[in-house]
Amino acid sequence: MAVVKANAYGHGVGPIARAAREAGAVWLGAATLDEALALRAAGDEGPLLSWLTAPGADFAAAARHDVEVTASSAEQLAEILAATQVPRIQLKVDTGLGRNGAFGDQWTELVGAVARAGVPVTGVWSHLACADEPGHPANDAQEARFREAVAELEAAGVDPGLRHLANSAALMTRPSAHFDLVRAGIATYGLPPDPAMPHDVPLTPVLSLKARLAAVKRVPAGQGVSYGYRHVTERETTLGLVPIGYGEGVHRAATGRASAWFAGQRVPVVGTICMDQMVVDLGDLPAERGDVVTLFGPGTSGEPTAVDWAVASGTIAYEVVTGLGGRIQLVHG
Ligand code: PLP
Repeated sequence: MAVVKANAYGHGVGPIARAAREAGAVWLGAATLDEALALRAAGDEGPLLSWLTAPGADFAAAARHDVEVTASSAEQLAEILAATQVPRIQLKVDTGLGRNGAFGDQWTELVGAVARAGVPVTGVWSHLACADEPGHPANDAQEARFREAVAELEAAGVDPGLRHLANSAALMTRPSAHFDLVRAGIATYGLPPDPAMPHDVPLTPVLSLKARLAAVKRVPAGQGVSYGYRHVTERETTLGLVPIGYGEGVHRAATGRASAWFAGQRVPVVGTICMDQMVVDLGDLPAERGDVVTLFGPGTSGEPTAVDWAVASGTIAYEVVTGLGGRIQLVHG
């Protein structure tokens, strides 16, 4: 399953969904039902699961558009079964994440409700809390609890259908958690769940963030740059103005710590990152208004990646790519 929630982690859901299907992803996964229905409206027709619904969700629409939905409690199962048309249902057990899913006795209650209703389920699944720390004891505990929960469902006479537990991190490091399906989000986009996680899967980030320099100027030593003069030039240098800022979701917290890629070299982003713009110090590199600067890319030529920006921003690559927006144009190659 390619997870394409949150506008495909900021990559643009329509083209990513098509590319994922073409590349062999049998399933697509969305968080909200609205996201799943939008995929259907855009023409996607393959197996599709949604897992996060608020009361009042249009489960009949899910049924009409063949979106599978997730019941995380007996109460939610009742809401789904009350729809004028009932969609296919998967069950979510909370094996220890402490988030969505039926926990402890709630699972027994949900299993009982499913068995009494005699409703078929197409899958049973859960989500890991610490998969990006492969040695964390929670992984074994959650996997064991998952097996128990599936067994409880089977003992109640319910065929569990597809069993799935793994996200990208577990896909990359924990074969025992693969079961019948894996839900790969961040790895689909070529990014690691955690840069420190040891793994042997070759990943190449698919998204690059580029801009054309909006201005180029030569400034003397001692020139303050951007709000608050957090940077002052140490020598005469060339500054390039990049028309991207926190209005595009680039984190202001990366101020003073990020670099970009220009003319085959890393160049520092200097001074406060602003709403619409930031400044790169190009040194003595020849530059003209309109030249392309790459903030991050695949990293294969030495350019920074979304992971580098995540580290500079004190966050994770998920947030860097998912947060992109504002005036950025997504261009799919
Ligand atoms: N499954 C569920 C239920 C999720 O919420 C997510 C994303 O957080 C994923 C799978 C994919 O996770 P990752 O991007 O770490 O592969």
